[in-house]
Amino acid sequence: MSVIVLGGGLMGTATAFFLARRGVAVTLVERGRVGAGATVASFGNVRRSGRHLSQLPLARRSLTLWNEAARLLDRDVEFRATGHLRLIFDADGLALMRDYARAARPAGLELEELSPADLRRRFPGLGPDAIGASLSPEDGSGNPRLIGPAFAAAAARLGAQVVDDAGSVQVRRTSAGFEVVTARGTFTADRLVNCTGARGGDLAAQFDEPVPIRILGPQMGVTEPLPHRILPVVGVWDAAHGAYLRQVERGNVVFGGAVDRTEVDPATGHAHVDPAHLPHQLRAVVRLVPALRHVAVIRQWSGAEGYVADGLPVMGPSLTTPGLFHAFGFCGHGFQLGPGVGDAMAELVATGRCDTPLDAMHVARFAA
Ligand SMILES: Cc1cc2nc3c(=O)[nH]c(=O)nc-3n(C[C@H](O)[C@H](O)[C@H](O)COP(=O)(O)OP(=O)(O)OC[C@H]3O[C@@H](n4cnc5c(N)ncnc54)[C@H](O)[C@@H]3O)c2cc1C
Repeated sequence: MSVIVLGGGLMGTATAFFLARRGVAVTLVERGRVGAGATVASFGNVRRSGRHLSQLPLARRSLTLWNEAARLLDRDVEFRATGHLRLIFDADGLALMRDYARAARPAGLELEELSPADLRRRFPGLGPDAIGASLSPEDGSGNPRLIGPAFAAAAARLGAQVVDDAGSVQVRRTSAGFEVVTARGTFTADRLVNCTGARGGDLAAQFDEPVPIRILGPQMGVTEPLPHRILPVVGVWDAAHGAYLRQVERGNVVFGGAVDRTEVDPATGHAHVDPAHLPHQLRAVVRLVPALRHVAVIRQWSGAEGYVADGLPVMGPSLTTPGLFHAFGFCGHGFQLGPGVGDAMAELVATGRCDTPLDAMHVARFAA
């Protein structure tokens, strides 16, 4: 068996790594730089709470691999199980959290409910107006700059061919499988995995399976470095798109959420930051940690991410084309899933089946 993985983001690099680990001949083709798409722009949240319930088995598989990442990749990718704290500010938020916690428990996600007194005692300075919180102690964060290149380098050490800077990439179906023509040569294989992120719908459409997907840019920012005081990743339980933040070990506080995602120019793929969003975003951030009221924001950024209409990614075999597999459109929550997606896709491609249920994410849901 030979496999080309198209797209060198977290999904593609992880898929290439786990395929190579199974002894499969794999070529990873990235049109630009490995890990430089949505992956590097990510906030880095390794969070399970609030995920669509159908994704929790995959998220559990992924969390196990985040815990093993340093050993598997021979590199510290800065996964830290600091806990994921979600603050609750009103009765609706409390009901949302309790309903979710009840529904997620059978899938193995245990959320600890914190009273206001627990919150103040265990996390002083976080959410002084909050009426409670949930804590997911096994979750945390990883470094978005390190994870893609680390998976690619580890895949290469296992024998995978990594072709980056491949420029314009053309994919053709042949009698033997697939031919991928790039600025750095032509590659053939009998299987092809579509890990092209926000552009994944282009390849799916080429093989007659259109997917309703929009490319949008979540807006992020980071403060100057500060004394390290905030251990967990912090978010909010609300029906809207709430703020979230974490403090990296070097002291900067990274934040996102609370504002609309910006449009991305489909031609250039550049995700713009809207500076007009910053004041609203900062008000939401300061509600989580009032001590951030007087700090300086030193950088803002965004990244082009694929949002599928129903909020779920597309994963699994193509309906139209034997040998073609998809893993794209992770809707702003693929960072946590990445290692699990790579492992699950490698299992599926290599064996034709996958222990982790992926049916809810199959492209067939758009076939009608
Ligand atoms: C600002 C931001 C914050 C986020 N925060 C979080 C978070 O905190 N937690 C979380 O779980 N998720 C988060 N996400 C989502 C997460 O980062 C993504 O879901 C995940 O990184 C997607 O990985 P990917 O490999 O599918 O895509 P990408 O990293 O975009 O990789 C796709 C790659 O495919 C390449 N490519 C495209 N077309 C072709 C082609 N035809 N041929 C070859 N290569 C091609 C691109 O150049 C790119 O490198 C965030 C996303 C953004 C943008």
